[in-house]
Order: sequence, then C-alpha cells, then structure tokens
Amino acid sequence: MTQTTLAAAGTDVSAQARRRRTFAVISHPDAGKSTLTEALALHARVISEAGAVHGKAGRRGVTSDWMEMEQARGISITSAALQFAYGDTVINLLDTPGHADFSEDTYRVLSAVDSAVMLLDAAKGLEPQTLKLFDVCRYRGIPVITFINKWDRPGRAALDLCDELTERIGLPPMPLTWPVGEAGHFRGVADLRSGEFVRFHRTAGGATAAGEEHLTGEAAEAEGGAEWTAAREEAELLQASGGEFDAARFEDASATPLLFGAAVANFGVRQLLDLLVELAPRPTARADAEGRPRELTQPFSAFVFKVQTGMDRAHRDQVAFARVCSGKFERGMVVTNATTGKPFATKYVQQVFGQQRSTLDTAYPGDVIGLVNATALRVGDTLHDGKPAVKFPGLPSFAPAHFAVARPADIGRAKQFRRGIEQLGAEGVVQVLTSDLRGDGSPVLAAVGPMQFEVATHRLEHEFGCVVRLDHLPYTAVRRLPDPAQRAIVDRERSSEVFARADGTLLAVFEQEMNLRILQRQKPELVLEPLVADG
Ligand code: GDP
Repeated sequence: MTQTTLAAAGTDVSAQARRRRTFAVISHPDAGKSTLTEALALHARVISEAGAVHGKAGRRGVTSDWMEMEQARGISITSAALQFAYGDTVINLLDTPGHADFSEDTYRVLSAVDSAVMLLDAAKGLEPQTLKLFDVCRYRGIPVITFINKWDRPGRAALDLCDELTERIGLPPMPLTWPVGEAGHFRGVADLRSGEFVRFHRTAGGATAAGEEHLTGEAAEAEGGAEWTAAREEAELLQASGGEFDAARFEDASATPLLFGAAVANFGVRQLLDLLVELAPRPTARADAEGRPRELTQPFSAFVFKVQTGMDRAHRDQVAFARVCSGKFERGMVVTNATTGKPFATKYVQQVFGQQRSTLDTAYPGDVIGLVNATALRVGDTLHDGKPAVKFPGLPSFAPAHFAVARPADIGRAKQFRRGIEQLGAEGVVQVLTSDLRGDGSPVLAAVGPMQFEVATHRLEHEFGCVVRLDHLPYTAVRRLPDPAQRAIVDRERSSEVFARADGTLLAVFEQEMNLRILQRQKPELVLEPLVADG
C-alpha cells in the first residue's frame, strides 16, 4: 500500500472503532439477561427490519435462535457475540453464559469487553453470580452501568437497592433515571438530566419498543402527582449524598450510572441503549504482553477469548471466538498465530448469532469474529497480520469454586490420562492442581462451574481414550496463600487443605467461608489473600 492509502485505511479503522460499543451483561440467572438482550436487539430494530432470524419476524427471534443452536449441538454455544446497529453505532453484545454453563469461560468473556451492564432483579438486588462477575470487572477495571430490572413487579425500595451497591461492593450509584411509582407500580422514570417525566406505556402484542411520553413542568406534576414528587425527592437525596452523575467516575470504574426499567415491557431499554452510545468506552489501544499499546490503526490483531468445541470432536466443529484489537479484518486473510508462529487461513469466518451463521467479510476493533474449524487455536492465542508481530497477555485463571480428584478408571491407561490432563490444563478447560497431602499423586481438577468437569471427562474419554473417575471434594472457598511456610497451618485442619498450581501459586481451600474465618481468628498470623484472577 502507498502512504496515502495506508493513511486512509487508518482513518477508516479509527472511525469504525469509534462507532463500536462492546460490552457484556453481568447478572445472576433469571434476572432477565436473555429478555434484556432480546429487547436491546429488537429495540435497535435490526432483527425485525432485516427480516428476522431464520426468516421469522417476531419477538422470540434472538432467543429461539439460541435455543435451536443449543439443541442442535447438545450444549449451548457460549460466549458468542450479538452484533447490531443502533443508529450510527455498532453494538457488540457478548454473551456471558450463566445457569449450568457458568464456567471460567464466562469470566474470560470479560477480557474481551470494554464495559459491562450489571443487571439486577429489583426484588433481589445483588446475587451470588452477579457478585462473582462484578469482582472480575473490578479486577480488570471495567466500567459498569447498572440496570435495575423488573420494576413492573413488587420489589425492594430504590434507595435500599442503592445502599446495597454502596455498602456491599463499594460502588456508589449515580442515577440517571429514577422510577416514578414504587416497584410494582411502574409508571415511568424521571430523567434526572433533562428533568422530564418519561411516562411508559405498554404497547400491544410484543412490540419492540415501549411507548414513551415526555412531560415537563406542570404537565409532569399533574400526571405524576405524588409519585412524581416522591421520585424527585428521593433522587435528590441520593444525588446530594455523592450520587451526582460524573462521567469520569464511571470511566475509572469508581461509581456506576444507574437506570431503572422492565426489560419484559421494553421500559428503560431505549435509555440503556442511548447511555451505551453516549457513555460506554469505545475500543482503545490494547496493551500487549510487554505492556506496549497496540494502536487501533496498526495492522489487524485479535485475541481468542473463547473456544467452543462440540462434544463430539469427530465433527471437528470447533469455533474460536476472537476479539479484534487493531486494524481491519477481511475474510480470507492469512494471519499469524503468535503462539505457534504458524499461519492461519481465515476463509471461514462467521458472525454467529442473530443473523444466522452469516459469513462475515470485514470486522473492526471491538468486533468479535468466529473462526470455524479452528482446531489449532486455543484460548489466549493472538492472531495478527504481518509485521510488527504482537502477542497479547495469555490465559488468565480465575478463582475456582469446585474441586475434584481425578483418577483413571483403568490404571493401564495412566499414560493417556496424564497426557490428557496436561492438555486440558494447557487449554484452560479446567485448572490442574497438585496436593502434597494426597499421596497417590492424583491431580485435583478445579473449576469455576461444574460444566467444566463434564467437558473435561468427556474429552478425556473420547479424545485420549481414558475413562476417568472424579471424587468431588467439599471445598467452596479459596484464597491465595503467599507464604509456603504457612502451609501446615491450613493442611492441619480437617476442613481445609492447600493445593499448588502449575505456576507455583498456592491455593488454600476451605469447605465453607466460615471455616476460613474461624481459622483466621485462631491463627491471626496466617496471611491469606483474596483471589479473583491471575495472568
Ligand atoms: P436470564 O436467566 O437472566 O436470561 O433471565 P430471563 O431473561 O430468561 O428472564 C427470567 C424470567 O424473568 C422470565 O420469566 C422473564 O420473562 C422474566 N422477566 C425478565 N425481565 C422481566 C421484567 O422486566 N419484568 C418481569 N415481570 N419479568 C421479567
């Protein structure tokens, strides 16, 4: 390319990157993530206007597509991205699998986003899986927008939910809207920046957007009555005690913009989309493994944050999902896998959700590409085009919550067993730990979610020809043990022990948080550190 065309390409990439908003929804199962995802996509009207997924126009479009794919494959296609346009903005919404699919991959998705939407059920507030995902966001410094959902149903008081955010996770809310009408009597929201009363109306038969009426001054007073006054008073109370909106506090992840809504009725969905467009960070230069920024306009680079392997490897239906970090991606490019130095042809690239498995021709920073038949790619791999080469930081490990000792059912297959365990550990399918206490040298597998064990045992049997037996261990709490000399303190107890990871990190595991607290009280000299992620 000549200098001028290079410069033009750079401008194109910068402009395209500026249009992108790449985020994930973090929530506990049943808070309404699927409903919100669908509402966002449908509100953006792409699916309905583009003639819908699988040619079916209608409300269940996104969900049914997911379900069909889940059924066809036996396990869900996790952590892929839904892409849609909203005005001039390109929204990339990455899936964070919950329910039975909650696993290390769910956390890894967060390495590929620029922001997150924390979705709370108005009746429940912060729930365990939300807290775990939020810890990862905090660890990575990801800015978080909070959306309190299901306001159409009876729930907790708005101020009470706000207090919970401040007190439990130290994330003060900065409301941008405030509900008019308590939970269960949702009439609309006060837009705290414009001062308007945005009144919501249910629209008939599964429409893609809520009816909205914008009222000001006396009209707002007359329509909103006592509920309007109460809403404004409450919001002022919160704003006066540090809840005033400040974009800088969102960007440095020290406070969270807050919205209220009901995804099922599309209430508040437009406000969320507009906020993402206005506020959510766009892709920026990503630091490579040496900490050097890879500028957006440098040649194409991407990192693999998720590999989806069909349970039946005979079909070799492996899709690697990569987030584009720099440059323009064009289908057919032959790129380099920085881990192996080998070329990788990108003839088969798909955008997996929403618009069937449509072939993707170009992608820009912030976009997710699905590389099909990518059996050579692993989570953490970097792909790049030409020079300069780049390698992004590798695979992070997260605090596991499930542990099991693994042994080959047939001792004659010990060699296959060892090879398989080593491979699965390297791929990050499960974490492989060792124990000093357990004399037979059997590895301890550790996982964020139990599905990881299923994948591991299935692959050990079908790929490595070794049936495994798992003995589940009763541990639920984990901390890092920085001082190896303190190992004995933990190992001595019946309800705890110490495992070592391949990188030398020592993990102290306990049956319950309570056991941990009791031991710390008895042995104040014991130093344990919180563990969210490494790497
Ligand atoms: P997910 O597990 O987080 O994906 O949750 P779903 O989107 O499947 O929602 C769980 C249940 O909550 C479903 O029955 C939804 O219809 C319901 N739901 C979701 N959003 C709302 C809402 O705003 N109001 C009410 N009343 N129900 C909702």
